[in-house]
Amino acid sequence: MSQRLSKVDLHIHSTTSDGVLTPSEVVCLALEREMNVIALTDHDTLGGVAEAQQAAASTRLEVIAGVEVSSEGEWGDLHILGYYVDPENGPLQDMMQAMQNARLGRARKMVQRLGKLGMPLEWEEVQALAGGESVGRPHVARALLNRGYVVTLQDAFDRFLANGGPAYVPRLKLTPSQVIQAIVEAGGVAALAHPGHYWTALELLPEFVGYGMRGLEVYYPNHSPAEIEVLLRLCREHGLIATGGSDFHGPGFEEGAPLGSVYVPPECVAQLREAERR
Ligand code: AMP
Ligand code: ZN
Ligand code: FE
Ligand code: FE
Repeated sequence: MSQRLSKVDLHIHSTTSDGVLTPSEVVCLALEREMNVIALTDHDTLGGVAEAQQAAASTRLEVIAGVEVSSEGEWGDLHILGYYVDPENGPLQDMMQAMQNARLGRARKMVQRLGKLGMPLEWEEVQALAGGESVGRPHVARALLNRGYVVTLQDAFDRFLANGGPAYVPRLKLTPSQVIQAIVEAGGVAALAHPGHYWTALELLPEFVGYGMRGLEVYYPNHSPAEIEVLLRLCREHGLIATGGSDFHGPGFEEGAPLGSVYVPPECVAQLREAERR
């Protein structure tokens, strides 16, 4: 890779949700790239954290227990990152379990809809593609691609799976306030993920701060220098920690960028730790 690599990456997916590499493989890659701190942030599950932390034990790499929880606000989907959460926290575990159960039923419904649209899929195939815990639209998209119904994963979203698309089924609805509070009560620091996906939702930032949100994902693939400036100003205004990461999903995935490819200032890790102690 020609770009300068970052030592810190706080937004990473693994096979525990819709990423391509296992938690251990993510750790190997981070070590290869001589990184210092990563956070595993799978969708609606902490299930990969223990494996990643084990793989990084007795190395110089710190693996932060993280999660990216899907919520829905007035503006639509909002993803909320949690850092330094206690993976054993009961209420958070219950919330994630409810999300996993709902995701299973939802994915089955999407498969049914696709069948009615003339694109039959085997449920077992989707389940096998999901492998881990958090079955999601990217797995259904992959199954459509494998069957040749679409030409790329993006094509599957554009034609069938995007919000409001003919095979789209919503997730279990959790509000931002429920999610932020669950993260805070699990001892974690909550941060708004990829604000560039929903600029208008930033109007709600003061409300989120009121629920206990402490961070904003400033450094992210495709955030321009001017956008980063705007987000840093919001951080100063609301006393938020500027976090960042690649949203790495693995090779060939549309969303996100290569592991470590987004520069994240290392001091934000100390700030997160400090916020978690309070
Ligand atoms: P899910 O949580 O199952 O609804 O899946 C959400 C994931 O699907 C996101 O993290 C993205 O990786 C992907 N995704 C959602 N919407 C789109 C879209 N319009 N185009 C491409 N990928 C998308
Ligand atoms: Zn994803
Ligand atoms: Fe996200
Ligand atoms: Fe993500």
